[in-house]
Amino acid sequence: MTIDKYNFAGKKAIVRVDFNVPLDENGKITDDTRIRGALPTLKKILADGGSLIIMSHMGKPKGKVNPKFSLGQIKDAVAAALGADVKFAPDCAKAADDAAALKPGEVLLLENLRFYPEEEGKPVGIDKEDPAYEEAKKAMKASQKEFAKTLASYADCYVNDAFGTAHRKHASTAVIADYFDADNKMLGYLMEKEVTAVNNILSDIKRPFTAIMGGSKVSTKIGIIENLMDKVDNLILCGGMTYTFAKAQGGHIGNSIVEDDKLDLALSIIEKAKQKGVNLVLGTDCVAADDFKNEANTQVVPANAIPDGWEGLDAGPETRKAFANAIKDAKTILWNGPAGVFEFDNFTAGSRAIADAIVEATEKGAFSLVGGGDSVACVNKFGLADKVSYVSTGGGALLEAIEGKILPGIAAIKG
Ligand code: AMP
Repeated sequence: MTIDKYNFAGKKAIVRVDFNVPLDENGKITDDTRIRGALPTLKKILADGGSLIIMSHMGKPKGKVNPKFSLGQIKDAVAAALGADVKFAPDCAKAADDAAALKPGEVLLLENLRFYPEEEGKPVGIDKEDPAYEEAKKAMKASQKEFAKTLASYADCYVNDAFGTAHRKHASTAVIADYFDADNKMLGYLMEKEVTAVNNILSDIKRPFTAIMGGSKVSTKIGIIENLMDKVDNLILCGGMTYTFAKAQGGHIGNSIVEDDKLDLALSIIEKAKQKGVNLVLGTDCVAADDFKNEANTQVVPANAIPDGWEGLDAGPETRKAFANAIKDAKTILWNGPAGVFEFDNFTAGSRAIADAIVEATEKGAFSLVGGGDSVACVNKFGLADKVSYVSTGGGALLEAIEGKILPGIAAIKG
C-alpha cells in the first residue's frame, strides 16, 4: 500500500517516526528537523480523520527506563508542531486502553520504545562469548515478537516513517510489519522521499558523479567508499581520514588523527581508484593547529609535512580549490562527513568550500544529496540546507542503502 492511496478515516494508525531529537541539559529540543520531517505523514492521517499512535526511540537507554530519554519531554513540542493535543502513554507496552480510547483526530505518543530491550531484540547482561548467549538470543527474539505484536494490536494499520532506523531489524521498524497485511502497512512520506533520493544516486546517475566522504575515520566509511568506487567519476576523501592516506604514502602527519591499522587499506583504495579510472581527490595542504580547540594557533602546511606537536584540523586553501573544482561541474553529488572539525568555527573552511560548491552545482541543475548527521549539521550551520536537492535524515541507514544493502525497515513493507 502507499500512503497517498490509503484512507485513514476511522482508522487507528501506528506510526514509527524518528523523534530521536537532540536535547539540551534542560530537556529542550535544540534541533527539531526530525519532528518537522514526519509532519506530512502525521498530518495526512489526522486530516483523513484517522487517529494517531506515534512511536519512537530516543537515545540509547539500553533496554532500561531512564527519564533522561523520556519522550514525555517532547510531547508539547510534538503537539505544537502538529497543532493538536497529544496524550502520552508512559509505558509503550501497556498502552492498549489509551489506544482503544482514541477518537478520530486524536493523538497518542508512546514512551521510548528502547526502554524495553525487546525493541532492539538484543539479549542484555550476557556476553557474546557466554555459552548461554545463543539460547538467550533465541528467547529474546521470541519476546521481541510478542512486544511487536502488542504494539501492532493498538492499531488497524502501520506506517514506517523512520528512515534513520530503517537499517535496523527492530520490533517497531520491521518485526511489527508481520502483524499487518500488505493493504494495511506502508512507508510514510519522509521514507518515500528518502528512498527516491537514494534511487537517484544509485540508478539515475547523471554524470559527472562526485562523492565526498569525510568525517573522522576511514574504517567506518570503507563499505561505502568501495561501493562508490564503481559508480563515481570523482571521489573526494577528506576530514580526519586525510592523514591516514598521507601517512600511508610516507608523509609526516604530526599529531593528526590516524588509523595506523588502515594504512594498507588506504593504499589499496588509491590503487583501486587508479584501476577504475576514478579521480581520487585527497587533501594536499591543511590547516594545522597546535591544540584540539577552536582558539588554537594555526598554520597552513602540506598535509604530508605536518610538524610535530601540530595536527591537521581542516582542509587548506589549495585543497579547498581542488575540492570545489571536482564538485562545481558535477551533475550528481553525494556528501557524507565534514572536511574538518567543523564544530569549531575556525575550522569550517573546508566544509564550507564543499557546501558552497555543491550549492553552485545544484543551481546549475545537479542532483545533490547530503546525508549523515554531521554533514547535515554543516549545511544547517551554513544556512544552505534549502539550497541542495535533498538533505537526508539517515546516517547509517543512508550509507547502507547506498552500499546497496536491503534495509529491513523497507523490506518489511515492500517485501
Ligand atoms: P564521523 O562520525 O566519522 O562522520 O566523523 C565526524 C567527525 O569527524 C566530526 O565530529 C569532525 O569534527 C571530525 N573530524 C573531521 N575532520 C577531522 C580532523 N581533521 N581531525 C579530527 N577530527 C575530525
